[in-house]
Amino acid sequence: MPERPLRAVFVCGTGTDVGKTIVTATLLRALRTTGVAAQAVKPVQTGVKADEGLTSPRADAPVYAQAVADIHPFPALAPAAALRCFALPVSPHLAAAAENAGLSASGLCADIRKHWRLHKTADMLLLESAGGLCSPLNENEDMRDIAAGLDIPLVLVCPNRLGTLSDLGCALAAIGEKGLSLAGLVMTRSFPVNGDEVETLILEDNLNATRARLADVPVLALPYFPNFVWEDMAGLLAPLVEKLRIAIRAPLEENDLVRRDRKTLWHPYSSTLEPPVLNVASRSRGNRIILADGRELVDGMSSWWAAIHGYNHPRLLDALRGQAGRMPHVMFGGLTHAPAVELAERLVRRMPEGLERVFFADSGSVAVEVAMKMALQYQQGKGMAGRIRFLAPYGGYHGDTLGAMSVCDPVAGMHGLFARALPGQIFMERPRCRFDAPFDPASLDDARRVFDERAEEIAAVILEPVVQGAGGMWFYHPDYLLGLAQLCRAAGALLIFDEIATGFGRTGRFFAAEWAGVRPDILCCGKALTGGTLTMAATACTEEVAAGICADGRVFMHGPTFMGNPLACSVALASLDLLEENHWRTQVACLERQLEQGLVFCRGLPDVSDVRVLGAIGVVEMCCSVNTSVLQGYFVDKGVWIRPFGRLIYLMPPYITPADDVARLCAAVTEGIREGAHLP
Ligand SMILES: *Cc1c(COP(=O)(O)O)cnc(C)c1O
Repeated sequence: MPERPLRAVFVCGTGTDVGKTIVTATLLRALRTTGVAAQAVKPVQTGVKADEGLTSPRADAPVYAQAVADIHPFPALAPAAALRCFALPVSPHLAAAAENAGLSASGLCADIRKHWRLHKTADMLLLESAGGLCSPLNENEDMRDIAAGLDIPLVLVCPNRLGTLSDLGCALAAIGEKGLSLAGLVMTRSFPVNGDEVETLILEDNLNATRARLADVPVLALPYFPNFVWEDMAGLLAPLVEKLRIAIRAPLEENDLVRRDRKTLWHPYSSTLEPPVLNVASRSRGNRIILADGRELVDGMSSWWAAIHGYNHPRLLDALRGQAGRMPHVMFGGLTHAPAVELAERLVRRMPEGLERVFFADSGSVAVEVAMKMALQYQQGKGMAGRIRFLAPYGGYHGDTLGAMSVCDPVAGMHGLFARALPGQIFMERPRCRFDAPFDPASLDDARRVFDERAEEIAAVILEPVVQGAGGMWFYHPDYLLGLAQLCRAAGALLIFDEIATGFGRTGRFFAAEWAGVRPDILCCGKALTGGTLTMAATACTEEVAAGICADGRVFMHGPTFMGNPLACSVALASLDLLEENHWRTQVACLERQLEQGLVFCRGLPDVSDVRVLGAIGVVEMCCSVNTSVLQGYFVDKGVWIRPFGRLIYLMPPYITPADDVARLCAAVTEGIREGAHLP
């Protein structure tokens, strides 16, 4: 049974003592008189002892009750409630600490949802914050995180006085930071108007300027009332009440979105006639994806290798916002900027020594196209115009554009569909020597054979070092790369490492090339480059390759419109900082241990053909293809986000995933197989 969607607004002030309680009580009355069973709730009440939340003269609940004392439309629903009370009249984090209690947004959200479930007759909750918009709950969270956690709109209360527009500007920025929406804004007045000209000018301008700025939001004013007449005040909030009433009747957004999606959108590798099963994601936080119906999923995919620091990391968001304020984008032809220069320098420092020149691309596939074009232009520059083919192992994946596709696994990839349109490349046996087995030099025999037969045609070898990702999540022995590099050099072919999936620590080394101590001629990275925030990739090459391309006045012929996008560069720089500060090596080593422990019981389950773990990648390979949508649905029901493909059920959680959550992911996989959820 789907839960009744929470209908609530969060009443919050631009500061403390701005009249929130009066506004909440007035709104309560106004809603109740128009037939909406509303209840005013104080999630955190400070300055009041635990059992006096409804009675203490210092609590807000008695004010709510008083506002509706003369009307009785909903005898079954108490007008007011207080969930957590703390005696000290200070900010919630201090008041809680004084009683050795902790507050968290997720804990309070859970309390509120439970309260909503228990009060089935309520149409709407008016949640009044404690203190101002950014009053802290703990070191990392403040009042806004409650509204964000519940995904509900705000009613902002702001006193009308000198300084209002500045306070309001700050408040709106703080609201935007958390992606919150405003249901309405109420300007209050806590002392009488003196009636002089200047004051009148200020007060009217505050109201007009705010109305102009918030065109779609009701901006209302409650004048100074020395003696409360609730009824009169309630009338002034009518436009806001009307808006909230409409919200109550609104259809469930998530169903609507799926329906609209089906009409207009295309999803990865999908049919429009038999559309894929979709879940509506509305928010994300840390290692959690929050669905529109409020369910929270533990993320096991890092959004396809990308979100290594989890979601909404404040440092990444700060970098993004800061750069957005300075300069979101400029063309890279004829212009340069600090974020691009710094990022290129930082990447070069982290890459195998000798890779010294960076070309920014806007996605992994484009970075692969760039690498291939570099190799072709290099060979041309060397007078080797006949070297127009690429050698790639079976089982590789390099992206979905035509050039990249041509070097993907020709069987599992999309060659069948596009065979005649794709450039004909050369394929060799996939590196068959397991990562965790002793190296078998014979695994290079096929590469040697190809070079013996066709060296003159080969511009470059392209492969994913150590881990073949989307082509089978296969881990092979690093020594293979040493041998391959020697063969390439002897044959005059360049060596391209596609580290788009493996880069930035995922395999336990910063770049997987480090497992072998091999320096390729060209290296592509992407996916986790921006910590999963924006699309961006990079292709780096040696000075020798760059010079070969550019000799005799030639230029490299590529230049994407959004090349070196400053937003993406800035967030990538912040992501590199976080990698260092968070000690990615330790994080990945911990995940490796936890994945090994967690997936060990899959070994020996029926239909499982192999279980392997490397770095923060855990793979359970099945004997037959699994039913992706059924299994995905099973996992969502278990509260985890795992999307298997082909015969592979695999985990690559964000590096910040707590041990408990890794255990949950592994348990879901193990249980799913045990219960046969993978069967067609
Ligand atoms: C994902 C991936 C690509 C393609 O990157 P996109 O950003 O999806 O174009 C290329 N190579 C490898 C190894 C990948 O994992």
